[in-house]
Formats: sequence, structure tokens, C-alpha cells
Amino acid sequence: MTEVGSAQEASRRDPRCTVATWELDVSEPNDATFDIVILGGGSGGYATALRAAQLNLSVALIEKGKLGGTCLHNGCIPTKALLHAAEVADQTRESEQFGVKAELVGIDMAAVHSYKDGVIGRLYKGLQGLLGSSKNITVVAGAGRLVAPNAVEVDGKRYTGRNIVLASGSYAKSLPGLEIDGERVITSDHALTLDRVPSSVIVLGGGVIGVEFASVWKSFGVDVTIIEALPRLVAAEDEDSSKALERAFRKRKINFKVGKPFEKVEKTADGVKVTIAGGETIEAELLLVAVGRGPNTANLGYEEQGVKMDRGYVLTDERLRTSVPNVYAVGDIVPGLQLAHRGFQQGIFVAEEIAGQNPAVIDEAGIPRITYCDPEVASVGLTEAKAKEQYGADKVKIFNYNLGGNGRSQILKTAGHVKLVRVEDGPVIGVHMIGARVGELIGEAQLIYNWEAYPAEVAQLVHAHPSQTEALGEAHLALAGKPLHVHA
Ligand SMILES: Cc1cc2nc3c(=O)[nH]c(=O)nc-3n(C[C@H](O)[C@H](O)[C@H](O)COP(=O)(O)OP(=O)(O)OC[C@H]3O[C@@H](n4cnc5c(N)ncnc54)[C@H](O)[C@@H]3O)c2cc1C
Repeated sequence: MTEVGSAQEASRRDPRCTVATWELDVSEPNDATFDIVILGGGSGGYATALRAAQLNLSVALIEKGKLGGTCLHNGCIPTKALLHAAEVADQTRESEQFGVKAELVGIDMAAVHSYKDGVIGRLYKGLQGLLGSSKNITVVAGAGRLVAPNAVEVDGKRYTGRNIVLASGSYAKSLPGLEIDGERVITSDHALTLDRVPSSVIVLGGGVIGVEFASVWKSFGVDVTIIEALPRLVAAEDEDSSKALERAFRKRKINFKVGKPFEKVEKTADGVKVTIAGGETIEAELLLVAVGRGPNTANLGYEEQGVKMDRGYVLTDERLRTSVPNVYAVGDIVPGLQLAHRGFQQGIFVAEEIAGQNPAVIDEAGIPRITYCDPEVASVGLTEAKAKEQYGADKVKIFNYNLGGNGRSQILKTAGHVKLVRVEDGPVIGVHMIGARVGELIGEAQLIYNWEAYPAEVAQLVHAHPSQTEALGEAHLALAGKPLHVHA
């Protein structure tokens, strides 16, 4: 019930605020009907609420924890703050190569957390204000349950909706027989509040979350080993991005073992001992379990009300409708990419759909993806392998531009590439990048993919010099048959 207090604060600040105060208002009837009742106030849920409110729909937004959900409190924002602190540590440690004399004295975790929590706190306050100041949104603090195809119950009170949006998010998964104790065997939730820099960590899982934490800890001076069952790190990315990341991690002395399934973990006197396939054992102070996120849908009444599910995920059609009329689902509980901006876009889509605006269906492949480790990995569209599967190997053309030829990347001393995938005589259908700061290039890359641009069309656009965006420009020039600084 923490939210009610903060919502009341918001209401004192802004007289238009209609944040739920029902707990205190004895005169209010025990039933309330809304255009939309949303279960979960994370990225997907709150985006639905904000867009629906703009469209003059009345909304009840039910949240049992903190508005903003995983992304704001336990995901995107805190991890990126840690990654930025890690970058500062690396730049200090490596400053001499730029002629700057500085010494890294140490990492003060309390101060790192205070910086990180300051960022979260400011964004949280802003979000509370935004939601609280909308006359169309009622924020309800408490755990909800779907009790009818058109109603959610919270602490005995029923919220009826002409439409329901399920947005209950995800949780950190583990493996069978692998018990999370929150002390030596931890998830990302625990890692984000760890009060010390451990001496060594084993990271189980070489996906996005695993490599981001491995990157942070290495920069903080930790001995890190990643264990991944699949044959490569960031296995959902283009194979060339994985190879380049593995090369960069080797250079950074981040240990990793790929194609090695986890077998067991035992506690030792001062840490953990992990056994992997083949019998090899590795010891460390901590084990971070980063093997993916499961849908948070158990015991919420979804199945009882007839919502079709698959292994805990809510099944929807491309318009995000579930099998029950007027019940929609958004965010991590819908199979596909588990990313905050996908949740935002799905929330906007559902609100507009309910308002009768017939929005365009979201192309899942057109959702940009960034892994914020050092070096960053960013992509949009199809990988080379997927494109060849879909269009035939002889119809797919590739160009790989090495950042070695990009002035700004040389200044930053980063290695990497921009790889383009196109259909022969057709548009660009995949952009895959690796290198320091390439996450920022994804804005242009996603426009290229989503607007179905041809290499020649991008080639005629001017890219500022010296910038890393030039790498995108040069790659398109080359693919258009008129390379500038490279041989195509
Ligand atoms: C470590 C980490 C790093 C990440 N980094 C990134 C990143 O850099 N970029 C990115 O795009 N994505 C990132 N993600 C993923 C991103 O956080 C999720 O994709 C996003 O938060 C999903 O939004 P959602 O609305 O589906 O769920 P959530 O954000 O999980 O929100 C669901 C909300 O529902 C509430 N809820 C659940 N059950 C109930 C109930 N019964 N009653 C009331 N409320 C309920 C929960 O309290 C929660 O607030 C990261 C995730 C993690 C864990």
C-alpha cells in the first residue's frame, strides 16, 4: 500500500489529481466502472494508461508495488546507471592513453547506489506526477486479480472495465534445482542493491542481462566468468556481433565458457562452486543467475477467466487481443522481446485500438535492441542467418563496415563494426552494430529499417563528420555501390 501515500502527496501538489484515495473515502461505492482497467503499472501498463487518458478514456491503473515497474526500479534505469559508473571507472583507469593522468582509487558502492537511486527517484517522482495529474487516471495501490472477464478485484473491491489490459510483467527465472538464496546465489534484483564490490562472480547466462552485469563488475575490478549453455554470447544477435563481443571481452579479460550447460552449484566456505557440463568446476564469491525472465501470471485469475496461455505467457493476436473479448495483454507477459520500449509501444497501440483509432500493427523485428555492455551491441531487423532463411541465401547481400575507418571511433579508441543486411535490389532489412556508444546509432538504423529505406536513399543523406553516424553513412554508400573511404 506504499503507493497511496505517495499518490496523496501528488494530489496535494496538483489539485487536478485524481489518484485513488478510496481507502480513506468511506462514502465511495464499492464498485467502480472504467473504460479500461489495467493490471500492472510497469512500462506496458502505464503507457496504456497515459495514452488512453489522452484519448479521454477513463482508466483504473492497478499496481501492487511501485509505478514504473521493473524497468524503472529493477531493470533498465538502475543497470544503465551502474554501467555509466563502470564507464567512468574504466576511463579513469585508462586515462593515461589519452594523456590524462588520473588514478582510480576505488569504487564506493554506497555512493554509486546513491547516484543510481537519485536517477530512479527523480524519474519516479516525474512519473507519479504525470499519472497523478491526469483527471482520467485513477491509480489503485494493491494486488489485483482478474475475477471476471471484465473485472479486477483489489482487497475486496471490484474494478469493472469495458476493457481489461493485463500488464503484470515478469520475474527473474532460475533453473530446476538452482535455489536463489539472495546472498551467494542471486538474481539481478539482488545484484542491483549489492552493498559491496565482490572479489569474483560467476554469471550464469550470457544474454543481455548477464553480459551487462559482467561488464559492470569487470570495470569495478571483479574477476568475472560467464557460463552460457548456447554456443555464443548474446545468442539472439547476429553471429558477427557475438564474435566481436567475445573478442572484446577476451581483451577485457572477462572469462566466458559457451556451449557449457550448468550442472550444479554448491556452497563453499566463502562462496560458491559451480559445476558445468564436462565436470569442470569454477569457484567464486557469488553466482548471478541471469537465465531469462518468466511471465508473472500465476494465480492472477487469467486462466480461470478463459485467457489462453502457453507456459505462463498470455497468447494474443497481432492486435494484442487475448482469447477473451475486450481483454488485451501488453509487455513481458506477451511472448516476444522483453523490452521496455516494446511495452510502451504496445500500451499506446492498445489504448488507440480501444479508442477505435485502428493503429498500425507493431512489427516485432522493427523494435530496436541495445545491449549496454562495453562495447555496446545494437541491432534492428533481421540477422544475416534469419534473412537468408527467409529470402534465400543468394538473395541476401551483406556489407560489414569496420569502425577502424571511422574517425570518431578511433578518437574513442573503440573497435567494432556496422553490418548491413539487404535483400538484393531491395531495402535494408537488418542493421547490426558493435562498438562504444553504438546504441545511440540505433535511432537512425531503426528509421532505415522501419521506413524500408534502400541503400541508395540513405547514401544521399549527409552524415556529420567526425561522428559515429558516418559509419552508417559509409556502409550504405558502400552497399549502394559508391564507397567513399573503403573498398566495397
Ligand atoms: C536487469 C534488467 C535490465 C533491463 N534492461 C532493459 C533495458 O535496458 N532496456 C529495455 O528496454 N528493457 C530492459 N529490461 C526489460 C524491461 O524492464 C521490461 O521489458 C519491462 O519492464 C516490461 O514491462 P512490463 O510492463 O511488461 O512489466 P513490469 O515492468 O515488470 O511491470 C509489471 C508491473 O505489474 C505489477 N504487478 C504484477 N502483478 C500485479 C498484481 N497482481 N496486482 C497489481 N500489480 C501487479 C508489478 O508490481 C509491476 O510493477 C531490463 C530488465 C531487467 C530485469
